[in-house]
Amino acid sequence: MPTPFETAIAQSLRLRWEQHLYRSRRVIAGPQNTRLTIGNKEYLSFCSNDYLGLANHPEVIKALQKGAQQYGVGSGAAHLICGHSAAHHALEEELAEFTGRPRALLFSTGYMANLGAIAALLGEGDAVFEDRLNHASLIDAGLYSGARFYRYRHGDTQSLIELLNKCNATKKLIVTDGVFSMDGGIAPLPALASFARDHNAWLMVDDAHGLGVIGEEGRGTVDYHGLSAKDVPVLMGTLGKAFGSFGAFISGEENLIEFLIQEARTYIYTTALPPAIAEATRVSLHLAQQEQWRREKLGSLVSLFRRGAGELGLPLTDSATPIQPLIIGDNAKTLHVSQQLFDHGFLISAIRPPTVPVNSARLRITFSASHEVQDVERLLSQLEKLL
Ligand SMILES: *Cc1c(COP(=O)(O)O)cnc(C)c1O
Repeated sequence: MPTPFETAIAQSLRLRWEQHLYRSRRVIAGPQNTRLTIGNKEYLSFCSNDYLGLANHPEVIKALQKGAQQYGVGSGAAHLICGHSAAHHALEEELAEFTGRPRALLFSTGYMANLGAIAALLGEGDAVFEDRLNHASLIDAGLYSGARFYRYRHGDTQSLIELLNKCNATKKLIVTDGVFSMDGGIAPLPALASFARDHNAWLMVDDAHGLGVIGEEGRGTVDYHGLSAKDVPVLMGTLGKAFGSFGAFISGEENLIEFLIQEARTYIYTTALPPAIAEATRVSLHLAQQEQWRREKLGSLVSLFRRGAGELGLPLTDSATPIQPLIIGDNAKTLHVSQQLFDHGFLISAIRPPTVPVNSARLRITFSASHEVQDVERLLSQLEKLL
């Protein structure tokens, strides 16, 4: 007799197969790059979040090696015990400066930063307002916080106002992705900031896909919209995407950061990042800011793709960022096209529910400053044959 767990697990797996929602991993040999090696074959990849091409940058690698020599590998403990190194501290100061806020606090991952910050800020009797297309970690954080949870229609500021108007909670937090991770669209931050002001609420932006990529020197969505730290009191950023490294941070006022150090459980009860990772990130942060050509190149590759895809009549969204999904709709069809692309040497992931809404399965195509014009042309001519 199978146990109830065995029965439930087998059923869940079978259902996923039947609905074309089964997920599996591909084993990559070698570093993150536009060319990836899988089982001795080379693929042209359009699915990483290494937008600036820094994940495999020689200077960043050198900083990691040097950091390991100086600090060893493990941090040894949580930040509040004895794991907070000079490397972490320096990176926090540089992130604060980069985001134009007094302080920044490192977390081990973006998922943990969102969970820790939102659950520390909100509890029973409070309210959280989230865009329906927010990243899963923000949704989970809102639910976990115990606050009343309101989801507004994607980018629909009218629907948000209605929810705000009928909510009498004391602390209200509006939470949004800066750049939506599966769509590439930029959140309407000026409107959100003004509603937050009107309703005495706070606005939190998760800028995992905006930092490094848009705004002056890559300062992200808040800078792109010309907003201040006052408009967006809580800014979250990740270091594993455009910065090509690992980890995440929250930046804001002195008291907010001190409060998170005391109260954010995913900060307190976890081992600090390896200090060498912090050293590597300091270098990639510097490169990301200084090397404007990476953002310019990225921008021209995106334009080239959009022009070509438009001429082919492909189902583009109106994204102006390096995230350029082609929405196919049906799960099986999306999976099939992704598999065909793979057979032709392209790595592009099929993103299906529940990561995206039902009937909006898509090919999530992302560009990197390491791509070349010929890569985009090859992609377009393959898409022309398959779609
Ligand atoms: C990737 C991502 C996260 C999670 O960050 P990790 O460091 O990978 O855990 C959070 N929010 C958004 C919008 C993301 O895209």
